[in-house]
Amino acid sequence: MGEFELIQQFFTRPTPRAVLGVGDDCALLQPAPGMQLAISSDMLVSGRHFFADADPYALGHKALAVNLSDLAACGAKPLAFTLALALPAADPAWLEPFAKGMLALADAHGCELIGGDTTKGPLNICITVFGEVPPRQALLRSGARAGDDIYVSGTLGDARLALQARLEKLNLADATMKSACQHMDMPTARLELGLALRGIATAAADVSDGLLGDLGHILERSGVGATIYTDMVQGLMHNAEAACAAGQDVLAFVLAGGDDYELVFTAAPEQRAAVGAASKNSNTIVTRIGHIDALAGTNTSLRLIASDGSALPNRFTSFDHFST
Ligand code: ADP
Ligand code: MG
Repeated sequence: MGEFELIQQFFTRPTPRAVLGVGDDCALLQPAPGMQLAISSDMLVSGRHFFADADPYALGHKALAVNLSDLAACGAKPLAFTLALALPAADPAWLEPFAKGMLALADAHGCELIGGDTTKGPLNICITVFGEVPPRQALLRSGARAGDDIYVSGTLGDARLALQARLEKLNLADATMKSACQHMDMPTARLELGLALRGIATAAADVSDGLLGDLGHILERSGVGATIYTDMVQGLMHNAEAACAAGQDVLAFVLAGGDDYELVFTAAPEQRAAVGAASKNSNTIVTRIGHIDALAGTNTSLRLIASDGSALPNRFTSFDHFST
């Protein structure tokens, strides 16, 4: 199978919304009048972000989901995406489920595949997503203010449990392993929540490298500190009991697990009812986990408070490709 046959067979689809899709030198995209484009790229590298033998359907899903997660964190509505793909071989038995997993998620969110690039090489998947958001309504990392509540969506730490289980052969029940792998392999981008938080959240980010690390980006961009209560986050891991029984550090998984693709966001305390309504309307659980502090002198910007009121040392480091 040649390059163009491959593109034609697996990645060329009708694009009713885009002005022009796959097949020309450029795709053409017309945002709705007055809307701003939100743009983000994420690359998944074999052996780095996924195991080389990963299930192609799940990989297709995840490659797009992690990109949609960035649009969600911005409060943007997905429009389209491009796919740059390096493949070791043009193998239809791999390409078909890969395209299926990716395009099923794309269709669920009305996000059109409008172009890309295909080359031979070690497996590498780079997607760029395009979304739209009304001017000044994008959720940024820079808007958190002292006194704001801090929230996180969904559950945290289960993807990390799956990774740990695969690396270290943890003794987990089949049902636990299945549930943890579902979190790692088939993440959900919180797009509906992101849209519902427009005008309510003061800042947001998606949790891809661990809660404390990604919250740290908000703190840095906003010039504020934060207090997180560990008894408010301890319950956020879906498979906490099984992880604990397998000798794993649940708090570390929750605070610094990575690969969660939940949203961490801030909102003024007066907005608690509105946050509750956004959670309900988007069918997404959100949990309040702490609050934003003013930065005072040399105080560390992130404080972890245990249930007895004592401060815990922050021994949780987030994921960094160049320091691990
Ligand atoms: P160019 O020579 O201009 O780089 P290509 O020959 O690489 O264009 O690609 C031909 C067309 O197919 C272009 O419209 C490009 O956007 C599209 N395309 C290439 N690879 C992919 C892919 N993996 N998914 C979707 N569209 C693709
Ligand atoms: Mg090209």
